[in-house]
Amino acid sequence: MYWKSQTKETILKMVEAALAANGNYATNPILGIPGTYLDEDEFYRDAPFLEKAPFLKTLIANPNHIGCHTMGNKGLDIFKGTQNIERELIELCAEEIFQGAKGQQDGYVATGGTEANLEAMWIYRNYFRKEYGANTNQIGVIYSSDTHYSIAKGCDLLQVQSILIPVDSETRQIIPEKLEEQVEAARKKGVKYFIVVLNVSTTLFGSVDDIDPVVDFLDENNLVFKLHLDAAFGGFIYPFTNSNSKHNFANPRVSSISIDGHKMLQTPYGTGIFLIRKGFMQYVATDEAQYVPGLDFTICGSRSGANAIVIWMLLMNYGSEGWKAKMNELMERTNYLCDRLDSMGIHYYRNPYLNIVTIKAGEISAKVAMKYELVADTYEARPSWWKIVVMSHVKYEFLNQFLDEIEAQLVQ
Ligand SMILES: *Cc1c(COP(=O)(O)O)cnc(C)c1O
Repeated sequence: MYWKSQTKETILKMVEAALAANGNYATNPILGIPGTYLDEDEFYRDAPFLEKAPFLKTLIANPNHIGCHTMGNKGLDIFKGTQNIERELIELCAEEIFQGAKGQQDGYVATGGTEANLEAMWIYRNYFRKEYGANTNQIGVIYSSDTHYSIAKGCDLLQVQSILIPVDSETRQIIPEKLEEQVEAARKKGVKYFIVVLNVSTTLFGSVDDIDPVVDFLDENNLVFKLHLDAAFGGFIYPFTNSNSKHNFANPRVSSISIDGHKMLQTPYGTGIFLIRKGFMQYVATDEAQYVPGLDFTICGSRSGANAIVIWMLLMNYGSEGWKAKMNELMERTNYLCDRLDSMGIHYYRNPYLNIVTIKAGEISAKVAMKYELVADTYEARPSWWKIVVMSHVKYEFLNQFLDEIEAQLVQ
């Protein structure tokens, strides 16, 4: 994995060049598009601070990135400048971060991890329908009980069967016997085609689902499946902290991946990323979108080009080495937290390549947990776990305050 870090000046110039290659609502006669720049009364196009703010400039210029721009240059031509940057961004994520072969992946900037996960499920549902003549009730989604609720949402929206597999309470891995049991039960109900969703960091534990045990089991039973990785949380950490990761496109079993910019990368909300091997986007081509050049393949439809620009800007600013260093610093801070918990004899779950520490609820006071905004596994019942996520703002100073407070309580 390698890409170069660029200076702020270079990034600004590149975004300006992209905007210049776009049609400009202020200076070009653009008569037919139901879009324009942002309201001139609320958003000043000539404010001096915009000179050095490429993201805000793009936001105000308001390019529409509707559709998917990695499938040949068929998008709305008037926004081709910024859409080219989106294509570069998708290639960088697919090829550098997730080790895909050059030019062999499609993708787009989605509203978030939820949409990217739904997009994957939508594609595979339609793929099984079209290629295997499957009925919706013959399609099931295999996922662990620690999985983000967007997958359950997807089963509901797409009307496919949910096959929820319990995890081991210590390792947080799918229990093989339960996988067999649940798949067998689904097959008895007529499910023949499987969408497998595995996590590259669950939201609550930071656990990473092993791929091989699940996929080997399905292969041994000659079951038809497609594998999607939910890296909404871990996508900008795990590939940087674990150089031996098998959770990427170099692994032929992986078919698609979701990543969120608006978690670890600290981009504004609306910056999810969907990546998939080429050959699959067309299963969700909306033929009725005839007025969109190149048709639409996404769930969201119109979306701001500024969201693609801002993710790309951040990755260019850091470069691969800068980002790796930043993630390793977070790992050190997380190690520090774990070391102090160890010295107090407090039990927790942690994946060594991630920045999530999930503490057994009985072992610290709920009052302190709530004071520091730790997140519980449930708010509908008595919590079993409290989670700390060592994000950029979780400085040593805050960690120490929290740790000192629970240590003081232990002594009493
Ligand atoms: C946050 C998250 C999602 C959902 O992402 P949104 O951006 O909130 O839509 C999905 N999966 C995992 C593992 C997440 O952490």
